Amino acid sequence: MSILVVGSVALDTVETPFGDASDVLGGSAAYFSLAASLFTDVKAVAVVGEDFDDSHLELLKSRGVDIKGIKKAPGETFRWHCKYGYDLGDPETLGTYLNVFEKFNPVIPEDYKDADCVFLANIDPEIQLNLLQQVNNPRLIACDTMNYWIQNKPKELREVLNRINILIINDSETRELTGEPRMMKAARAVLDMGPEILIVKRGEYGALMFSKKGIFWAPSYPLDEVIDPTGAGDSFAGGFMGHLVNENYPEMIGIKRSVVNGCVIASFTVEDFSVKRLANLTQAEVGARFSTFMNLSKFD
Ligand code: AMP
Repeated sequence: MSILVVGSVALDTVETPFGDASDVLGGSAAYFSLAASLFTDVKAVAVVGEDFDDSHLELLKSRGVDIKGIKKAPGETFRWHCKYGYDLGDPETLGTYLNVFEKFNPVIPEDYKDADCVFLANIDPEIQLNLLQQVNNPRLIACDTMNYWIQNKPKELREVLNRINILIINDSETRELTGEPRMMKAARAVLDMGPEILIVKRGEYGALMFSKKGIFWAPSYPLDEVIDPTGAGDSFAGGFMGHLVNENYPEMIGIKRSVVNGCVIASFTVEDFSVKRLANLTQAEVGARFSTFMNLSKFD
């Protein structure tokens, strides 16, 4: 089984009350790929600039990620600068420098086109649609988006929603997309837009899964220390999708197991800056945390 992911590969500068990191590897496709590669083959599509250090690409490759689809373009790599407050909730964006990402027009390598599953990370819905035109009938399509696209490309985003199986977004995006402040009603409204499954990422409160067959909630893993929440959402998506592609979709049990795996992987990501923790994460560590997780909310 394999997953094709298209998204950003970035150099992030992150400030938290507990430390900071400059120009470190980030971006939705980087986090997603490293997370999903713990479970399945990943083929990444992204663009970086001439300033991008090859060691980052080597890292992805060493974790089994196919990086043929990550192109180097003339110019600088996409950069994002953010600052977190003491609650480590939504960060304040101090700068978004699109650079080569501004003209990102992905062309899918021939041997990526038969991927079993596609993840469209948070990018322009027009690019998401363009990508869907290039692949051959994937079994499962999931996507992420953000408030900017909900406000600025509503028509294109609705077209994307019509073509996907799973939408993975956070609470505020769910409310903005539907204009409905109450989560249950908002979730039903999203399911009426096309996706079979909606996953709402809720940071330290875990993740909620909605489908017409039922609802499931997984808490986030209780950690002593959170260093940098950046990439938690994309790592959740990578862990979730990477696991799901090997499950018997749409059986509920497999979807639930995958949600828990998403939460487990995200819990490792936030233990250090950038992809440091994901870069050396082992399947044994993931399995051990999954088992602890099962006991977290079992009570009879
Ligand atoms: P997350 O914390 O999982 O929501 O995602 C954080 C990652 O998204 C960071 O590594 C950023 O480089 C990347 N990112 C931030 N803003 C954007 C944007 N406008 N488009 C694409 N990727 C972004």
